[in-house]
Amino acid sequence: MPVVTAVVSNADGLGSVPITNGTAKPKTEVKQLPVEYYADFLSDAAKARRPGPIRGLLPLEKTPGLISLLAGKPNSAMFPFTSLQFGARDPHSLKEYTLSLDQNVLDEGLQYAGTAGVPALIDWLTDLQEIEHHRNRSEGWRVSVTSGSQDAIYKAVQAIINSGDSLLVEKPVYAGVIPMFESLRSEMTEVETDDHGIQSSSLRQILENWPASKPKPKALYTVPYGCNPTGMTATLERRLEVLELARQHNFIILEDDPYYYLYYGDKPRVPSYFTLEAQTGTVGHVLRFDSFSKILSSGIRVGFATGPIPLLNAMDLHTASANLQAASFSQAIVVTLLKSWGYEGLKKHTENVSAFYRAKRDVFQAAFEKHLTGLAEVTPPEAGMFYWFKILLPEGDSGDSVELIREKAFQGGVLALPGTVFFPSGAKTPYVRASFSLLDEADVDEALRRLRVVILEARGG
Ligand code: PMP
Repeated sequence: MPVVTAVVSNADGLGSVPITNGTAKPKTEVKQLPVEYYADFLSDAAKARRPGPIRGLLPLEKTPGLISLLAGKPNSAMFPFTSLQFGARDPHSLKEYTLSLDQNVLDEGLQYAGTAGVPALIDWLTDLQEIEHHRNRSEGWRVSVTSGSQDAIYKAVQAIINSGDSLLVEKPVYAGVIPMFESLRSEMTEVETDDHGIQSSSLRQILENWPASKPKPKALYTVPYGCNPTGMTATLERRLEVLELARQHNFIILEDDPYYYLYYGDKPRVPSYFTLEAQTGTVGHVLRFDSFSKILSSGIRVGFATGPIPLLNAMDLHTASANLQAASFSQAIVVTLLKSWGYEGLKKHTENVSAFYRAKRDVFQAAFEKHLTGLAEVTPPEAGMFYWFKILLPEGDSGDSVELIREKAFQGGVLALPGTVFFPSGAKTPYVRASFSLLDEADVDEALRRLRVVILEARGG
């Protein structure tokens, strides 16, 4: 097998180093899935959506010399905001400085914007994806700004799933999508995972034994970095195997990656599915979701979806009918900050953020070893903000007493999430998810000490 050099992100992200990979194919052979390919993926709801009579014509307002009588835009002269300044931290010096929105950015931020987002932010994010994921613009993808990534995931799944359609999900899966997938009446098929990510052997087995009478799954939902809830980060090998299966069995990979920039592992960063798919020889199977929630602000509600244009178009049509667009005001603030930092500034900022969470992880690990050795097992995460640990319950107890432990722990003054909420089937499990993002050393120590008392009690010791 020829060994080909491909360009992928380095450990810090926002840069590039060459890596070699035996399964890679030369870039010149990369095939772009044609627009027609996605027709089979679109749900009935997505096919039925039409552009509204006004939003569809909005781009024409930019025609030079045109006098527009089109949209019901409020006159911004009557808005009370005349300027906007905010304080920000310089990622390099960590010194605070003041940023002012340029008048034109403020004007845009105060007004309705295009469905896919404020143009300056779309441009910045498209460049970011080119730099970070090494995808050039000619490869049939684009970016849409959304109200956080949850909004984008919901619209993506609505664009694809009809009632009764199958969706592959990690086992366990981010609890925030379970009610969403259930409400769409999608049939969730759980794929086994371990510390290396999705078990491609489990996925292959499911796909190869799929009943001929049932339509094959249209999509696989995965959180590849610092997974919520397991904390695991999928390895390069597993990602390439999953991509290969997507190509063979025609499904879309929904790459939900809000913890991508919270990678603090010792080894170089693994490229995203969106980066790697170019190495499989075909691009167009990955729809990626990024979020500013964990790195800029969760309240600002800005995320972005990146992927095949027909899918993004379907999602935008949903946005146009549901909420018109993500808040321009938030987008104006984000683009002002990002432009002031530049890509290097964002890179430095994400390094600072991941170092912060790494230190929190280390504190949690030390307290875990101090209080829970022999009572619980864990593989420390390399990204994100979650510990997923297995309580060593008495023989024969496969998770029955975890709810009781949770209750007793709550009475004893500590709250963690029993793992069962992350299984669509509600299966019992001895696992618990603990979030360590907010706690200082004293709180972590006390929380795990309290948990120790309750676990010991449950074990009758
Ligand atoms: N996906 C995952 C895996 C998450 O953990 C979260 C936040 N808890 C989201 C999506 C939603 O993030 P956002 O704030 O960008 O909507």
